[in-house]
Amino acid sequence: MRILVTGGAGFLGSHLCDRLLAEGHDVIAMDNLITGSTDNIAHLAGNRRFQFIHHDVTNYIYLKGDLDAILHFASPASPIDYLELPIQTLKVGSLGTHNALGLALAKGARFLLASTSEVYGDPMVHPQQESYWGNVNPIGPRGVYDEAKRFAEAMTMAYHRSHGVDTRIVRIFNTYGPRMRLRDGRVVPNFVSQALRHEPLTVYGEGRQTRSFCYVSDLVDGIYRLLLSDETEPVNIGNPAELTIYDFATVINELTGNPAGIRFEPLPVDDPKQRQPDISKARRILGWEPKVDLRTGMTQTVEWFRNQLTV
Ligand code: UDP
Repeated sequence: MRILVTGGAGFLGSHLCDRLLAEGHDVIAMDNLITGSTDNIAHLAGNRRFQFIHHDVTNYIYLKGDLDAILHFASPASPIDYLELPIQTLKVGSLGTHNALGLALAKGARFLLASTSEVYGDPMVHPQQESYWGNVNPIGPRGVYDEAKRFAEAMTMAYHRSHGVDTRIVRIFNTYGPRMRLRDGRVVPNFVSQALRHEPLTVYGEGRQTRSFCYVSDLVDGIYRLLLSDETEPVNIGNPAELTIYDFATVINELTGNPAGIRFEPLPVDDPKQRQPDISKARRILGWEPKVDLRTGMTQTVEWFRNQLTV
């Protein structure tokens, strides 16, 4: 296949490019580089089956030639980025998704939307199943991301129902691994870079909120299976191993031998209290489940961050 990955220079987008190339596909990565980086795809320069286009998908997307699939991954993805880039976040989820769907329709390409566990907001149902409609504050600081992704899902289903575009929707839960931005403000880069500098880890609130962390190779595998499946309704992909942020901090300090402990800081507005994917649907229809446990994945991630901090 010839596949376009929007956000192809980002954390997840670049890992997807690697996997698609390894599967024998031709790949075009498109990115405006506001949160992505060409460092993430530098190793692909010179690969004749890979091409990078510097473009902002909130503007009309022109692409020459046939296209078999579009993986729409362009978006800021960290709560700190939403605070700094609220309008870009809303625009890429709305206008960017509309443009990417328009391109899919014009080319007769399959379309896969990167959606998110944030569509469930601060969930009242636990663990979260795809059938849950969510609990989102539309006017809070995180609402720009949550509502943009909810709109993107609605637009994707509308193109599927009205125009017959062959669509997929993946709801991605917290994911970690090499190529996360050192300063993207999310808990994994924050804790790991603090631990490697022997600083106390900044736990927000009392650290009783929970998350469930999925290693990037597992996530990419789930997404690739979904792309090849014929499921048009949303599918959760994530690791159901849930832990409190306090316990997560303890694991990171243990793994890195950080003697500096923990420091408590205020909880951000609308921070979801709990999050765990129900992955029975992915298990059933994709035959997928995560394979990499937290300690194994975090060890790889810590190694990568260590190299970043020393270069
Ligand atoms: N968090 C924290 N310390 C940090 C960064 C994040 O305690 O330095 C918490 C944050 O309040 C949230 C969880 O870790 O409860 C995950 O935050 P992240 O920004 O990674 O993503 P989210 O899951 O909230 O989108």
